[in-house]
Amino acid sequence: MTGFDRYLKTGPTIDALDGFDRPTALAAGFDPAVATQWQKLHDTYYGEKRFAYKATEARRLAAQSAFSLDQLRLIERRIAHIKDRVARWNLRLELLAEPATYRQLETRIAKVVPEKKFHRTKSLRLTQSSNGLRSLFLTADERDLADLEHYLRQDIDTTKPAGPQMLRRFLKLIRKDGGGIAHAQPRPIVVVTLEQHMRIMASDGDEVVLGLSDGTTITGAEYLAMRPELSEVALFHPHEGAVNLYRSARYANDKQRTLAKMTHTVCPWPGCKHASEYCQVHHVTAYSQGGETNMSNLAMLCSYHNRINHDNPAHNNRRGGMQRVNGTTCWVSPNGTPVPNTTHPYGAAHILTNA
Ligand SMILES: [Zn+2]
Repeated sequence: MTGFDRYLKTGPTIDALDGFDRPTALAAGFDPAVATQWQKLHDTYYGEKRFAYKATEARRLAAQSAFSLDQLRLIERRIAHIKDRVARWNLRLELLAEPATYRQLETRIAKVVPEKKFHRTKSLRLTQSSNGLRSLFLTADERDLADLEHYLRQDIDTTKPAGPQMLRRFLKLIRKDGGGIAHAQPRPIVVVTLEQHMRIMASDGDEVVLGLSDGTTITGAEYLAMRPELSEVALFHPHEGAVNLYRSARYANDKQRTLAKMTHTVCPWPGCKHASEYCQVHHVTAYSQGGETNMSNLAMLCSYHNRINHDNPAHNNRRGGMQRVNGTTCWVSPNGTPVPNTTHPYGAAHILTNA
């Protein structure tokens, strides 16, 4: 038996918290930060008075599933924003019920723990200087920042990182001769189904949230207010996907790009928040592999995901890639599971599949 085997046998699981004492731990050479974390775990699992029966059950499950203290700490970090104590205990019990690796536990947490809502207020903040640099954080109305992003992304060289180029343009903008940014130019496109449109027209659309191709949203009421200005209508078939875009003369190329932007209002890679307005045209079946430039083969991907997406799904590909699934483009995992991107679920593909 190696030293590591022995360590794992008696290692840092729930039992090590029984009788934990911070001063003794410090005397034994513990990192004070780690000692603090152990103390908190001890107080939770061994110091709970009001819901003692829940704590007892949690200790039993943690021991039975052989969870490490790292895992118990992970759980505490991810449920810290839940205010209700009973809800926190119930989450612990649910998460501890089955053995898991650290990564499996992270996945389980993502599934069952309600997401932390960030309460953000409109503001601007500057940091102190460090190595001659400062950072600027600003939180503002999404429409204003969408306009800003649109402006900053113009004339970007997509073969180079976008950040430094956007900064140069931003700095030029804020100087006296910078000129300022127009409101929503060009107008982003609204994705609306016939059913939603009818509901809004019948004054039943207060709850309807519509997505725009720049990654923002508007309500049914706002849609109603801006409707006279809308000159573009996109038609989507429930099974075939994007069919046609009716509007004044434009190049077919541009029309296809527009329909693709409205099919997914953000890059369809799971978790990606990149607005389709700033995405690149992607051929699901690569042009080099005989893929055609028609609607059923086009999708908008952000430059990063366009780059890492494998053009040939037959390749051994550990990151998965874009494929055509039920009339829309969807990321498919290496083991063949389609996973849609739900970060901005207002594109036609999303609305139609959930209609
Ligand atoms: Zn992306």
